[in-house]
Amino acid sequence: MKPEDRIDSIKGVGPKTAALFEKLKVNTVEDLLKLYPRNYLSYSEPVDIEAAEIGQRVAIKAQIQSYVDIKRVRSLKLVTCTVKDMTGSVKLTWFNSPFLKQMFHIGQTFVFVGNLSRRNSQLTMEHPEYYTIEQYEKLIASLQPVYPLTEGLSNKMVTKAVKNALPLADCLEDLVPEVVREKFSLIPLGNAVAGVHFPENMEQLMECRNRLVFDEFFWFLVHMRQMQEHTIKAENHFRIKDFTVADAFIQSLPFSLTKGQQEAVDSIKKDLSGNTVMNRLIQGDVGSGKTAVAEIALLSVVKNGYQAAFMAPTEVLAMQHFLGVKKDLEPFGVRVELLCGSTKAAEKRRIYEALAAGGIDILVGTHALIQDKVVYHNLALVITDEQHRFGVRQREKLSEKGEEPHVLVMSATPIPRTLAIIMYGDLDISVMKDMPASRKPIKNCVVGPKYRPTAYKFMLNQIQEGHQIYIICPMVEASENVEAENVIEYQESLLDYFPKEVKISYLHGKMTPDEKNQIMQNFAEQKIDILVSTTVIEVGINNPNATVMMIENAEKFGLAQLHQLRGRVGRGDAQSYCIMLCATDKQEALDRLNILNQSNDGFFIANEDLKMRGPGDFFGVRQSGDMLFQLGDIYANADILKKANDAVSLLTKEQYPFDTLYERKSLVL
Ligand code: ADP
Ligand code: MG
Repeated sequence: MKPEDRIDSIKGVGPKTAALFEKLKVNTVEDLLKLYPRNYLSYSEPVDIEAAEIGQRVAIKAQIQSYVDIKRVRSLKLVTCTVKDMTGSVKLTWFNSPFLKQMFHIGQTFVFVGNLSRRNSQLTMEHPEYYTIEQYEKLIASLQPVYPLTEGLSNKMVTKAVKNALPLADCLEDLVPEVVREKFSLIPLGNAVAGVHFPENMEQLMECRNRLVFDEFFWFLVHMRQMQEHTIKAENHFRIKDFTVADAFIQSLPFSLTKGQQEAVDSIKKDLSGNTVMNRLIQGDVGSGKTAVAEIALLSVVKNGYQAAFMAPTEVLAMQHFLGVKKDLEPFGVRVELLCGSTKAAEKRRIYEALAAGGIDILVGTHALIQDKVVYHNLALVITDEQHRFGVRQREKLSEKGEEPHVLVMSATPIPRTLAIIMYGDLDISVMKDMPASRKPIKNCVVGPKYRPTAYKFMLNQIQEGHQIYIICPMVEASENVEAENVIEYQESLLDYFPKEVKISYLHGKMTPDEKNQIMQNFAEQKIDILVSTTVIEVGINNPNATVMMIENAEKFGLAQLHQLRGRVGRGDAQSYCIMLCATDKQEALDRLNILNQSNDGFFIANEDLKMRGPGDFFGVRQSGDMLFQLGDIYANADILKKANDAVSLLTKEQYPFDTLYERKSLVL
């Protein structure tokens, strides 16, 4: 077996399982080795039953107190048994595991691990895992990998396949140059991969993970350097001279530009009319008004006879931008079209033709905009919204389509200047620090679930005043299906609370793009009062009439993500509110949420978030959606990012033949 072999060459992986793996984009043995766990389960010391937390996964060490009882419930065999320790007792239940009768005898002690709940006054655990004391002692030290899954593919199956493939970890080719590996004392790649899957302890996990994070950053920066060599001095083939229409548009806006917007616009004008092509990042917190700046740039370019593309990370956001740009710029005689993955074939063909013939001025859409089939007539500007990784691969692709277009990248993710210089070495940066003056700061609160009915009452008031509401449903990690069910159930439960005339709808990731767009449009047209949603609405959505954002299980989100979610309100002149419902009373969780409670400033939040995190806190804390390295997090791993940057500098100083690395990069990125 070799790393490049197909996945079904692994022992125990047949064609059926292989097909499931393909859904996770795992096709080869190497892909599987690089399917890193997204989390780890640790087994903690057993606790006293009395002290065990309800609703949490806990381990108890307890004695079998009663005979194992087997009852038939419909077609199921229900197995129950009571166990006790010095402080209390718990009733355990399993379905269809009658063999347990032979296993458990009165007086024996086992460790049981599961979710503890309370039925009437009885503590219960359903389907607990069980271990002998010796077995459990071995488990305590280890960390069990939790993999990304898809329906039909269990964690057990993935774990077994990875175990069987693991001997090949040492055959993975390490493309990081020897001198870098030595200078930065990197552990061997094979060890790192093996250790990330099955770490013996936290310390080893961190060491292995750090090596892989280093690789991610290193290859990213190598690629960046290639882009820099390639573009930084590229000649401006699309010199924009005439800004009269753009200026007229600015005059026609119902507001005057903020200082930050004005400065960004000035820089863009300078770039567009200069000698070299524009490569600019606009960094502005959520709600700072980046879209207006984008529209000014778009109009400038197309009114000088060129085409422009405006790219968004999701179809929902693309649709919103399409409608907005159409409404704002059509009066200036601009032809705008939308192109997404889900656009119907005939419509796509029509757009391709019109585009090539110069019959479209601005094309708005998703990644579909830069696919090979898309041929522009004279594309002079590409704007991307909320996606940082753009510019690396995609810019390369674009320049293959003709002369190098101007590029404008817009981002709300607050990155400290020192990191930004590394991450965006090839971009000029404009920071928009101020918010429109008419804005009232969002009012925040962090509350427990008991407050829910009060929150609903408050929402009803807001609705009666003509405003709209978002509710973000608890995050379920299990699967998108469960998440969808969850959202629907939640929406149904709201029907009891609100009068009939309140219109409540929902949105989740399993819906088709058409369905999602329909809902978002209805929400924009105020045909929906309350929108219950998963985090699919996280990025970019703009409905200035929405004034309440309520987030269930706020403790489960990363702060950056919460800040993005909160940014969906406070986008108009009315006072807005963010209600963070926190299901635990753990001080740590409350302290984290309090940071958001205190401040609406993305930079401040990112910094505080970083300060509060300790080693190991990367589990489950997702940054705001874009710029996702598979493992690396530019905040938490800022030191590794700097190290990787030093490595690239070292190679540059030693005049390392980078071309040999550029050729290999497709293997890594
Ligand atoms: P973001 O920077 O998060 O992308 P948007 O561009 O979507 O923010 O702008 C949010 C809202 O603010 C929009 O409704 C927009 O019309 C409005 N807006 C933009 N600039 C200004 C301004 N200078 N004064 C008042 N409102 C503005
Ligand atoms: Mg935006």
